[in-house]
Amino acid sequence: MKLNKSDPQIAKLIEKEKERQETCLEMIPSENHSSPAVREALGSILTDKYAEGYPGKRYYAGLEFYDKIEILCQERAKKLFGVPFVNVQPYSGSPANQAVYFAVCQPGDTIMGMSLPHGGHLTHGWKVNFSAKFYNSAQYGVDEKSGLIDFEKMEQLAKEAKPKIIFCGATAYPRIFEWEKFAKIAESVGAYLVADIAHIAGLVVSGVHPSPVSFADVVTTTTHKTLRGPRGAMIMATEKGLKKDPELPQKINKAIFPGLQGGPHENNIAAIAVCLKEASSPSFKKYGKQIIKNSKALAEELLVRGFNLVTGGTDNHLILIDLRNKKISGKEAQIRLEKAGITVNKNTIPFDPNPPFEPSGIRLGTPAITTRGMKEKEMKIIAEWIDKVIVDEKSISKVRQEIKKFCRKFPLP
Ligand SMILES: *Cc1c(COP(=O)(O)O)cnc(C)c1O
Repeated sequence: MKLNKSDPQIAKLIEKEKERQETCLEMIPSENHSSPAVREALGSILTDKYAEGYPGKRYYAGLEFYDKIEILCQERAKKLFGVPFVNVQPYSGSPANQAVYFAVCQPGDTIMGMSLPHGGHLTHGWKVNFSAKFYNSAQYGVDEKSGLIDFEKMEQLAKEAKPKIIFCGATAYPRIFEWEKFAKIAESVGAYLVADIAHIAGLVVSGVHPSPVSFADVVTTTTHKTLRGPRGAMIMATEKGLKKDPELPQKINKAIFPGLQGGPHENNIAAIAVCLKEASSPSFKKYGKQIIKNSKALAEELLVRGFNLVTGGTDNHLILIDLRNKKISGKEAQIRLEKAGITVNKNTIPFDPNPPFEPSGIRLGTPAITTRGMKEKEMKIIAEWIDKVIVDEKSISKVRQEIKKFCRKFPLP
């Protein structure tokens, strides 16, 4: 039975959300619009079966085709990222990171990651997260003046703390990650280096951000951000990682199952396979390049309009605006922009004098609007709208109408 017959309430709400997505500009940098092919695999009958274990070594029967799907997904990931090992079963990015700690650390071991208010992720050792509750967390950050990662301080901290594992990668860092610098520090203290490329995986495979594969021991990523697949994640071990610890694949596999998870979501894994095929195409490379062009164009247009950008600009898909000179909080800016049809999120800026629920910044990114086909020309128009709404609350309803009309030219995939 069709959903609108069997459950009209949910069907209606999905329809409403579709309309919202169609008529608004999605500018949260961790979000995107997946392809119909990805969604078809995701919504398939593959959601029905249990597949605990790994291809060829399952705890349930009837998995002939599930095995083929998972192997195909693994092969595509290994080829695309250039790694000898991958686990495609993590339910999402956070459990993937959790599994990496579980694979190589004991509770109470020291771990190291970038602090959340400086752009790191919760799972990189932030105090409210399991990663700081089960492990002893040392946190590095950025330089107050430049907004760039402070490698000198980080090295000092690593020498004192002697972490077993160092996480690098972020959720709100607008610049290129200098993997070789992280690798040097990790090597000097004998730590495993984990590059978490959740946000930038799509940029890495398009060649517009350096790959961490020859520098890190382990690479984790989500599949739903710039990679543009379904919600999910992968854990990869690199050649370098296998040299350091030949047991890494077994340790990672065991950490995911039976360590942390039960049956994998094979509908997700099939959809990840579809997304990896899409990400291997020339048009995906073009999309990756355009994300950066758009992000740089948007940053330029915002700078011209007197906005302060953390680090002064961007090299990747995201921009962090420090709104203090505009006399508006991140929260208020988020609310106004949402009313106008531009979805962004409030965000702390490094060394934020204001509390996290009323931070001084907003974070915005170009992946989803690039997927819809917008280019530099459109970034100028969007910057103008952002400026109008932030400077003058009364402009919201007019901007809302303009955005609705504008969005018709850029259909969702
Ligand atoms: C998004 C993100 C994650 C977590 O992913 P979830 O799927 O939300 O659990 C982990 N690390 C980084 C750097 C991220 O940006």
